[in-house]
Amino acid sequence: MPGGALTNRLEADVLKRGDQPNVLVVEDDPVSALLVKRLLAAQEIACDHALNGKQALEMHSQRPYRLVVSDWMMPEMTGIELCQAFRRAEGSYVYFVLCSAKGERADRQEAFESGVDDFLSKPLDRDELVFRLKVARRILSSEDKLTLQKAELERASETLRTMNANLEMASRRFEELFNGLPVACFTFDEAGLLHEWNRAAEEKFAIEPGSAFQSPIWKIIPTVSNDLWTGEMVKKIFRENGMPPTDWSYTTPEGEYRAFACTVFTLKDESGRPIGAISANLDITDRQRARQQIEEQMRQINEFAGQLEVQKHALEEANQLLALRADTDGLTGLLNHRRFHTDFERAFEEARRDDRALSVILLDVDHFKTYNDSYGHQAGDEVLQAFASLLKATSRRNEILGRYGGEEFAMVLQGCARAPSVTSAERFRVAIEGYEWGDRPVTASFGVATLNPKASSARELLRWADEALYAAKAAGRNRVVHFDDIVVQAAEESAA
Ligand code: GH3
Ligand code: MG
Ligand code: MG
Repeated sequence: MPGGALTNRLEADVLKRGDQPNVLVVEDDPVSALLVKRLLAAQEIACDHALNGKQALEMHSQRPYRLVVSDWMMPEMTGIELCQAFRRAEGSYVYFVLCSAKGERADRQEAFESGVDDFLSKPLDRDELVFRLKVARRILSSEDKLTLQKAELERASETLRTMNANLEMASRRFEELFNGLPVACFTFDEAGLLHEWNRAAEEKFAIEPGSAFQSPIWKIIPTVSNDLWTGEMVKKIFRENGMPPTDWSYTTPEGEYRAFACTVFTLKDESGRPIGAISANLDITDRQRARQQIEEQMRQINEFAGQLEVQKHALEEANQLLALRADTDGLTGLLNHRRFHTDFERAFEEARRDDRALSVILLDVDHFKTYNDSYGHQAGDEVLQAFASLLKATSRRNEILGRYGGEEFAMVLQGCARAPSVTSAERFRVAIEGYEWGDRPVTASFGVATLNPKASSARELLRWADEALYAAKAAGRNRVVHFDDIVVQAAEESAA
């Protein structure tokens, strides 16, 4: 009931109830009854009238009264018996005033002992009645107050019971939830002392329920290799209001390695002061192991890849060497016959395409057979090697040098026309002639040919050079002959 309504009800006169009387006068004598009614009316108190106890009880059962003013001596049922009947009846308290001409001490005692609230001597005195009604009002008001307070108390205790039941359910649910979490959780205070933990924590950290409560975390979680839970760490957590997600691990006394991903939150009171912390730890041992395996495999793969790279490199080098060997002559290091031809043909095609000059020189060591015969094949080889070195030293960068046959060499002079090609050949010839040969002088003969529109192929050009070389030999060796000169000479001879 709202406070306002309660106060209003308590402030209202308990003996007045709108137009319905709250007071019952029980009196068999009509004159006495009239007197009482008048006295009450003077107090603006309405009342009903019953002629005897039976009628009074009946009327009260229809509509309960708060105050009963009853005569003592009445036929069938005395005022005392009526009071006792009221006291036995259920319902709210009825203030019972007994009126009687009997006023002895013993009479009063009997009346009060049978449950009467007040006693008035007949004939009734007006002032006395006013005064007694005040008492009745006070008693009934406190009775009302008590009744209301009792009802409120009952309501409050009902609310409390409901709240308690809810709280109990919530805490049971929380406990079930906390315990059922697959993540190992525990709470601790600022000193690092353990307070609560769930089943997963009990299993993961082998917590002994009997001894773990309020023990330091670092004593509960085996310390062998526990790399996180220290007093310092706990202080830091409370200082910084928690901890960012952190991985940590420990080894059980049985030597089993375990890793966890951990999150810590601080728990605060209403003023925001941290009163504890809760730590949730997800077992990541298997995940970490899998990652380590992957990392190990990756490392091996990388190692293999490195080895493969080294092998690839060696293979490339071997291939290069092989290619070099396939293209070069073992004795002199110059291009071999096959490679010389390839390069020469390419140079020939390029020169023809770009309309550029190109000359080829063939040279052959003079009387080499006798050299071999005189000084041995080995000495002959050395001459060939020295020959190649001389050619290389005297040649230019874009000239192609090859060992054409046994003691025959070939050179392609790119961008070189007839006159400079003869000059070049002459330069070689002089270099060979002037070289300090150990056993005896060594010379060579040179045949030169230059690209002209008549040359149909590289091979034709070489044939021309060969013809010129033959002419040089025929003319006495140690000399340079250009093919064009032979042609001119032949033409002159045929003309003559
Ligand atoms: P010519 O002045 O007419 O060229 O006379 P020549 O003796 O040089 O010519 P010929 O063709 O009769 O002989 C070439 C000799 O070259 C024969 C061979 O023993 C020698 N010869 C060829 N290749 C090699 C080689 O690789 N090493 C050595 N030591 N001698 C070789
Ligand atoms: Mg020869
Ligand atoms: Mg020769």
